Amino acid sequence: MASDKDMKLIEDGTRLDGRDFDELRDISIKAGVLKRADGSAYLEWGKNKIMAAVYGPREMHPRHAQETTKAVVRARYNMAAFSVPDRKRPGPDRRSIEISKLVSEALEKVVFTEKYPRSVIDVFVEVLQASAGTRCGGLTAASVALADAGIPMSDLVASCASGKIEGQVVLDLGKNEDNYGQADVPVGYIPRTGEICLLQMDGNLTEEEYEEAMDMTIDACKEIYEIQKEALKEKYSTELEEANLDEVIKEA
Ligand code: ADP
Repeated sequence: MASDKDMKLIEDGTRLDGRDFDELRDISIKAGVLKRADGSAYLEWGKNKIMAAVYGPREMHPRHAQETTKAVVRARYNMAAFSVPDRKRPGPDRRSIEISKLVSEALEKVVFTEKYPRSVIDVFVEVLQASAGTRCGGLTAASVALADAGIPMSDLVASCASGKIEGQVVLDLGKNEDNYGQADVPVGYIPRTGEICLLQMDGNLTEEEYEEAMDMTIDACKEIYEIQKEALKEKYSTELEEANLDEVIKEA
């Protein structure tokens, strides 16, 4: 995180992109976009574009990685070479390994893994275009893809970050805010139970600022949860309509 003196991020009480301090960037999610995956979701969040695909549950290979009492949720986060202004070197790096691990752990909290011993549920998060907040976007999309795959889950995970720029606590940091801000706190939230399944902090916040940031984030996660549920409803109502149409055609 670069120095906050490098760039002006708040002018006349508003952020560079015109958002209020507690305002999310625009988010849209579409479920079931890939034919060959068991489940999928495509998410746009501000300038972020992220695809999530789920395969499984299927037998875990290599076998020594099997868990005898439960399935392993194995997420792989990847940023495409063309996802950032300077070409990103393809392949895993420290950052993508870290994000893959925390996405796996967050999703394991909601999947009923004990139903599928010795299995693996593969979750691929492909960042096609990145503009800050991709771990939150990836986790949000991945949980929709898991539900789309029909994998039994206790709930979805909604994820969002808040942080601090120029001494002000703000929701959902954009790219410049992330680069030149003072703190960034990504959170994964399970709405039904109120549990936190991901919490990281880059930078520093006072106790009061932390409380304020968490309140903002949790409210935002509730908003995101509604968008996730809408995406799933939309997919299944479309499928139902198509199925009904087939019936009508058959009968005609
Ligand atoms: P997140 O995307 O979850 O906010 P980071 O805080 O690590 O994760 O990254 C912030 C942003 O920095 C990313 O969303 C992306 O726009 C940019 N970024 C990350 N890694 C690279 C990279 N290797 N090259 C160029 N930009 C990157």
